[in-house]
Amino acid sequence: MDICIIGAGHVGLVTAACFAELGNQVVCVDNNRPKIAGLKKSIIPFYEPQLKEMVVRNVKEKRLAFTTNLKEAVRKSLVIFIAVGTPPRENGEADLTDIEGVAQKIARYMPSYRLIVEKSTVPVETGKWVEHTIRVNIRGKKKFDVASNPEFLREGSGLEDFMHPDRIVLGLESKRAKDIFVELYKPLKAPIIITDIKSAELIKHASNSFLATKISFINAIANICERVGADVAKVAEGLGKDRRIGDKFLNAGCGYGGFCFPKDLEAFIRIAGKKGYDFRLLKAVKQINEEQKGLILKKIEGALWNLKGKSIGILGLSFKPGTDDLRFAPSIDIIKGLQLNGAKIRAFDPQAMQGGREIFKGIKFCRDVYETARGSDCLVVLTEWNEFKEIDFKRIKKLLKQLVIIDGRNIYDPAKMKKMGFRYVGIGRS
Ligand code: NAD
Repeated sequence: MDICIIGAGHVGLVTAACFAELGNQVVCVDNNRPKIAGLKKSIIPFYEPQLKEMVVRNVKEKRLAFTTNLKEAVRKSLVIFIAVGTPPRENGEADLTDIEGVAQKIARYMPSYRLIVEKSTVPVETGKWVEHTIRVNIRGKKKFDVASNPEFLREGSGLEDFMHPDRIVLGLESKRAKDIFVELYKPLKAPIIITDIKSAELIKHASNSFLATKISFINAIANICERVGADVAKVAEGLGKDRRIGDKFLNAGCGYGGFCFPKDLEAFIRIAGKKGYDFRLLKAVKQINEEQKGLILKKIEGALWNLKGKSIGILGLSFKPGTDDLRFAPSIDIIKGLQLNGAKIRAFDPQAMQGGREIFKGIKFCRDVYETARGSDCLVVLTEWNEFKEIDFKRIKKLLKQLVIIDGRNIYDPAKMKKMGFRYVGIGRS
């Protein structure tokens, strides 16, 4: 099938590569010229395991191409996926101007029937506006369908998630659109949920909000654990073994981040409010998440007393392991808070150093965990990279100025750490 993906970001590029891998003819369009120029030379603009290999293979097999020429891409493709960003406006609402701009252009360029698919995460009723925009900008009497096919992939396991999804959600309104999708997704053998466009849009917002709720829920439990001397890791294990609850997204820590949860939650709260519903539950989820970041600062202060002039070794900058994505990462607020209090920062991340250099100023970026520890008053884990789980603590002991570990992701065993002579401070456990 001839497919066009608009937006060569974390979602668009993975989608383009995977559809090509499945045997389709894919053209991936972006208005960022340097990005497209780089992709033409196989330079992948972000870290995603195995993506480079898949892109290179499919470009070589002539199933995948990159361009800035939207007109040509729309002309050649039957199905057009919109995967551009939907960043938050200052007031928290999703900024849909790129979606509208792209819809206007598709309308002008399409020579005949096209299936236009929302892949980006958008507030409910965006599909209605996309359809309206196409209708008012279309030239002549051409048929088209608009559909919603939200993406659930996670950065760091994007290829695996795309190829083996738990479910495929399709919001559509015509048999023609349904037949195209069924053909397109046939190789994936995943359960397909077909519904109307608004319900599909809501499934995505509801999914992300529910996952964020689980994280804030366990963080709230962690706060109680700290007050009574219980262990949140054990509480989570006991909770998660109940199949009605499940053990995923029950790790207490310094809060969720990334390009999805914070902005999607905020956008959902906003659209709910616009429709006359005060989504108090999600407001509390957001507030608990904000407080977790402040909690880390308090824990560091509790262990080191005054922060002014102290050297803090930060392990992990990306919002989660497996990615170099720093968007809305808890590390941003935490490091800024430490700097405001006069602390000096040394930091290491296995993938996010380049992005880190663009965001953080006045930081000493280190080669590895050990250079980060050298002369630091404490080590603070902000991202649960596997590399950090297996470090040589005997070596670390010789490098740290004070033997303090603040484990913002609960990756170490408190008893073992104490036995080794560290002052260990986790989340919801002692
Ligand atoms: P991104 O910022 O990584 O990529 C967006 C891309 O769109 C950029 O390359 C940008 O240059 C391009 N773009 C913007 N306007 C354009 C235009 N007018 N024409 C052509 N290209 C344009 O964003 P992302 O992380 O891929 O997210 C895209 C959407 O998918 C968002 O709505 C996001 O919420 C959603 N989503 C993201 C993830 C994730 O894990 N990142 C998962 C599921 C859904």
